[in-house]
Amino acid sequence: MARQPIVMANWKMNKLPEDARTYIESVANAITAYPSVEPILAGQDVLLQSMVEAAKGTAVEIGAENVYWKEEGAYTGETSPKVVADLGVQYVIIGHSERRHYFRETDEMVNLKALAALRNGLKPIIAIDEQIQTVSNNEHMHWIVNQVIEALKGVTPEQMTDVVLAFEPTQAIGSGTAMSADMAQKDLYLIRETVSDMFNPEIAEDLRILYGGSVKPENVYEIMRQHDIDGVLVGNSALDPDNFIELVKLTH
Ligand code: PEP
Repeated sequence: MARQPIVMANWKMNKLPEDARTYIESVANAITAYPSVEPILAGQDVLLQSMVEAAKGTAVEIGAENVYWKEEGAYTGETSPKVVADLGVQYVIIGHSERRHYFRETDEMVNLKALAALRNGLKPIIAIDEQIQTVSNNEHMHWIVNQVIEALKGVTPEQMTDVVLAFEPTQAIGSGTAMSADMAQKDLYLIRETVSDMFNPEIAEDLRILYGGSVKPENVYEIMRQHDIDGVLVGNSALDPDNFIELVKLTH
């Protein structure tokens, strides 16, 4: 099965409700020329309802940036995956490196959130990071493999069709300098091999794995040429709707 490429914007804590609507209106028409790409926009919780409404009838899909691992209860300030799914949101980013660093999310929390997303009909885009600056190759590989294994604990083979992984080396996020495409390819291959060992080669072959970290129109073509890279997760550059359109066009 050919893996459909994804271009996903992560707006983080940017954009007002009005910006969200105008962004979606301005990209929706332009991207109809590139139907082979799945376009996803992720926004903060308070924007999700207006994003879903603006995206209705277009090819744009909406993602949340985080959810809690419980459906309901006395968890003041948290966001229920059940409510997010009920709004019509399809995807949720789990374990972004900013959540792992600033909000101390552990591998166990990431796993609980991924399972909760799947239980509630949200497709998790589980971020795998790489925080070590100078490490031996073995340590580097172990770090990545371990995160994949911990994140996917308890996920069934059937549920794997709804899972997307995103490799985001911390030093590339927001830095303006992406990891070199061939180095990213090596890490994504390692991730796919890990999934193959955990499940089976068919599940690994069908799994979509994204690269994230300073992707922009200038480097997306080279990144997307790599065999194991099935899409991109984009922060800064994708805040501009024209760049998002360009990224979809160059990924097509
Ligand atoms: C991100 O935060 O997911 C990201 C990839 O950001 P940027 O594109 O700005 O590096």
